[in-house]
Amino acid sequence: MARITGTVCRFCRRAGVKLYLKGDKCISEKCPVSRRSYPPGEHGRRFTKETEYSVRLKEKQKARRIYGIMEKQFRIYYAKAARQRGVTGENLLRMLETRLDNVIYRLNLVSSRREARQMVSHGHVAVNGRRVDIPSYLVKKGDEITLTARGTNMFKERAVGEGELPLWLDLNEKTMKAKIKEIPNREDIPVDLKEQLIVEFYSK
Ligand code: SF4
Repeated sequence: MARITGTVCRFCRRAGVKLYLKGDKCISEKCPVSRRSYPPGEHGRRFTKETEYSVRLKEKQKARRIYGIMEKQFRIYYAKAARQRGVTGENLLRMLETRLDNVIYRLNLVSSRREARQMVSHGHVAVNGRRVDIPSYLVKKGDEITLTARGTNMFKERAVGEGELPLWLDLNEKTMKAKIKEIPNREDIPVDLKEQLIVEFYSK
């Protein structure tokens, strides 16, 4: 399976905004975006004119990086979203948002999607009582998410858990059981993305 390697902070510097890929470091003074707010590389400070294409490409890359998805898989998501009824851009975001690794992140059980992906692929998460180790698993309305005993201990050790819970999710902190109350609408997805630009990028 292809993986994103190297330092991920370069993606934020390229996008020009914080993508929150490194958990606690992102809200600390060590965040490179706060210290060097220009693109990475030798020519990073050079002025480059933005074209329509580059703006759309940048937005698509930003979405990919936020959710930690490789190009090929992202294209597959887009193709599925385009086949669904409704607004393609919103369908796409809804699909990304309902990935199991993202749900674990939104439940505030970990500090980054990367950590969430690891938690799932290491087999610490169960959906409706069955262990699921596929981070891209798409949850459905009514699904019940639980952590294995080891996963619960890991969560407690890290003492993550602060932060607002999205309205479409429910978490019982005593039993560590979460429930998908609804499939989120666009307004329930707190990502700073212009999904229409992504649609325009792929429809060319
Ligand atoms: Fe992005 Fe976080 Fe790195 Fe800052 S610390 S550049 S927000 S990944």
